[in-house]
Amino acid sequence: MIELVEPATGEVFAAVEPTDPATLDAIVADAAAAQWSWAAADPAYRAHVLRAIADGIEREREELARLESRNVGMPIADARDAVAGVVATFRYYSAAPERLLGDTIPVAGGIDVTFREPIGVVGLVTPWNFPLSIASWKVAPALAAGNAVVLKPAELTPLTAIELERIARTAGLPDHLLTVVNGPGPTLGRALVEHPGIGKIAFTGSTRVGRDIAARAAAGIKRVTLELGGKSAAIIFPDADLDAATTGLVGGAFGNAGQDCCARSRVFVHASVRRQFLDRLAAVVAGITVGDPLAERTRMGPLVSARQRDRVAALVADAPVLFRGTAPDGPGHWYAPTVLHPVADEHPVAREEIFGPVISVHEFTGEDEVVRRANATVYGLAGSIWTADLGRALRVARGIEAGALAVNSYTSVRITTPFGGFKQSGLGRELGPYALDAYTETKNVYLRTEA
Ligand code: NDP
Repeated sequence: MIELVEPATGEVFAAVEPTDPATLDAIVADAAAAQWSWAAADPAYRAHVLRAIADGIEREREELARLESRNVGMPIADARDAVAGVVATFRYYSAAPERLLGDTIPVAGGIDVTFREPIGVVGLVTPWNFPLSIASWKVAPALAAGNAVVLKPAELTPLTAIELERIARTAGLPDHLLTVVNGPGPTLGRALVEHPGIGKIAFTGSTRVGRDIAARAAAGIKRVTLELGGKSAAIIFPDADLDAATTGLVGGAFGNAGQDCCARSRVFVHASVRRQFLDRLAAVVAGITVGDPLAERTRMGPLVSARQRDRVAALVADAPVLFRGTAPDGPGHWYAPTVLHPVADEHPVAREEIFGPVISVHEFTGEDEVVRRANATVYGLAGSIWTADLGRALRVARGIEAGALAVNSYTSVRITTPFGGFKQSGLGRELGPYALDAYTETKNVYLRTEA
C-alpha cells in the first residue's frame, strides 16, 4: 500500500493501493473500447453526464474539501474555493459537446468541412499542489471532447482523484472512461507516457519532468500539453495602491504556502516606495495565521511534505532574510512566511522556483529596466502589474513574457480564460474555450459535388 502522510501532523492518515504497471495494457485497451461509443454518443448525452458529475461533486463538496485540506495541508477555506472551481469547470465544459463546431471552407468543385475529432485515450499526470482542481482542468475538457482518460495523480495526494472517479461513475459516466492509476511518477507515470495506446499526455508539474515527458512523447509523436514551473514577478509602481498590493500577497505569494506555480515569488518595487511597501508587508506577513488547515481562521498551512520543506529551506539557507512570520513548532511540515531583501537578481532564490512561502523583494527605478529584469528568467507563467496608469499597465503587460498577467490583482486562473506559460513554463493552454483544441484533432473532409 502507498501510505499517505498528513502534512499538518506528519503522521500516516490513509493508504491507497498501488496500480501494477503491468495492468496498464488492459486499462488502456478497456479505455479505448469505451471511448469509441462515448465519442459516437449523442452530444446531449455527454453534456448531461458532465453536468451530473458537477452535481455529484457539488453534493459532496464539504467532504471533498476536507479530504483535500488534510491531504495537501491546504486551508479549508481555500479547499472549499477549489472544489467550487471544480464544479464550475465540469459545468463549463458540459456545454462543449454540443458546441464542438467545425468549419465549412470554400473550395472548387465541392464542399469542404472540418470536424473536431477526439484524440482517443489521453493520459493525465497531475501534481500535489492543487490535486482536484488541476485534474478537473484536464478531465472535463478531455471527456467533453469525446476522449477516455487515464489519470495519474501525484503519489502524495491521490485521494480526491480517487473520489472523482467514484463520483463520475455514480453520475453515469460509462465504465473505463475515467480510470485513476496510483503509483510513482518515475515508473507508473513514465509507463503511461510511453504507452503506445495513449494518444496524448497532459501534464502539470516541474519543468524537469515536463522536459522528460516531452522527450519521451516525441518518440511516438504523441501530443503533449505541459503546464510547468514559474518564477512570476509582481511589479509595483509608485502610483500603485500599496495596501492592496501588499495585502493581496497573502494569496498571491503565500497562498497554498507558496506551492503554486503562479506564486509571485519575485516582487519588484519602485525605489521611491520601497520603504512604505516593506513596512506594510511586514505587518501583513506578521498577520498571516499559519496553523491547522482544518481551522476556519487559518490562512496558511504546512508544506506538503518534509522533502518539500527541506528543499525550500535549502534554497533559502544563504539568502538574506528581512523578516519572517510565524509557524507552529512540532510535528508537521511547517515553514514560516519569509521575505528576503535585498537580493541580487542572480541569486538562486530569485531565479529558481521556490515552491514555498518565500518572496524576494527587488528595487527598481525604470519601466524598461524592470521589464527586462522581470523577463530575465527561463520561466514565463504569470505576473502582476500594480499601477494607476492604464497606459503603463498595458505597455508593461505587453512587454512581460508570460501567459497569465493581472493588473492591480494577483489572480491567474479563471475557468473561462486560457491559462499556460511562455518559455519553459509550458506548452499549450488549459481552460477557457481553447482547451478543447488540446483534446481534439482537426479532420478535413472534402465532398465532391461537381458532376
Ligand atoms: P514532479 O514534476 O516530479 O511531479 C508532478 C507529477 O509528475 C506527479 O504526478 C509525479 O508523480 C509525476 N512524475 C514524476 N516523474 C515523472 C516521470 N518521469 N514521468 C511521468 N510522470 C512523472 O514535481 P515534484 O513533486 O517533484 O515537485 C518538485 C518541484 O516541481 C516543486 O518544488 C515545484 O518547483 C515544481 N512543481 C510545479 C508544479 C506546477 O504546478 N507547475 C506542481 C508540482 C511541482 P509522483 O509525484 O507520484 O512521483
